[in-house]
Amino acid sequence: MSTVRRKREHGRADRILPGVWRLRLPLPWPGVPHVNAFALDSGDGIVLVDTGIYEDAALDELGRALDQAGKSLEDVRLLVCTHAHTDHYGLAATIVERAGCELWMHPRHEHMTRAAADPERALERRIEVAQQSGVPLEPLRRWAEERKSEGIRIAGLVMPDRELKTGDEIETGRGTWTVYETPGHAPSHVVLFDPARRLLVSGDHLLGRVSLYFDYGWTPDPVAEFLSSLDTVEELRARLCLPGHGRAFADVQAHIDANRREVAQRVEQTAAAIAEQEATAFELVPAVFGAGFEPAMASWALTMVLCYLNHLERTGRAERVTPPDEGEPERWRATAPMAAQP
Ligand SMILES: [Zn+2]
Ligand SMILES: [Zn+2]
Repeated sequence: MSTVRRKREHGRADRILPGVWRLRLPLPWPGVPHVNAFALDSGDGIVLVDTGIYEDAALDELGRALDQAGKSLEDVRLLVCTHAHTDHYGLAATIVERAGCELWMHPRHEHMTRAAADPERALERRIEVAQQSGVPLEPLRRWAEERKSEGIRIAGLVMPDRELKTGDEIETGRGTWTVYETPGHAPSHVVLFDPARRLLVSGDHLLGRVSLYFDYGWTPDPVAEFLSSLDTVEELRARLCLPGHGRAFADVQAHIDANRREVAQRVEQTAAAIAEQEATAFELVPAVFGAGFEPAMASWALTMVLCYLNHLERTGRAERVTPPDEGEPERWRATAPMAAQP
């Protein structure tokens, strides 16, 4: 019997533990085929953690996954978003409206909500940052056009009814989950921990495959914030991690260590590259990530290099060279090594 290879998977549900379903929802992104939402039994309904992205048929895919778990959108008593990225918050406005439930999310969501309120301004700002980083005009123009046509992939703007902070609790039918703020990947990032079963819903803070991303420009040093959030999660000693993408995994400590190693390696590669010669952030991308990036990935790589440079600057290891003419890209260099402190 021959099978037809579907281009994209449909939404589906897997029961991970009693009262905990993983809802696997398709994404339109190359290399990231799906995002996980989680349905947590709450007695008379469910607490839904994360939403999937907003696009055609996304609501049907979520409905299909919920149906496999024996639930429906109307069963959602509370929506919690681990962070305000499109794949975790995209359908929030629709879900809140359909289910008549509250949305709980961390208050530092302006990286999404401000951009969504004025997408043109947000795009302009990103173009300014790219120009300042030395991205040549032509690829930048093409990238901006693509971005414009893509839209922002959220159903609408919805603000949290409750602003989540460390120590807040989410009651479900099978125990209480505690919230921990874990900024770095996004300023609005939180994880949920069930201490009785030592379960961690990690969002994009900790993934099965190390895959770093930090929002640039909203907080002083996303790299340092991410590292400190890894410390926060390490102390929880979670037994099983339910990540925002990919399968659940048990060796949580090994994943924390791997993330630390990856950050250290990229930071040192960035430091080594500017020690060799002054460069723009754009020029540093091949030194840190290798050459031959797809345009879609180039934007990710530039963001990461900017975050690493920013981190080196905050830790006294790099400095910006003021361009001679206004409008010229900014260059970076290593600071002179300081005498060892006693
Ligand atoms: Zn994310
Ligand atoms: Zn994600």
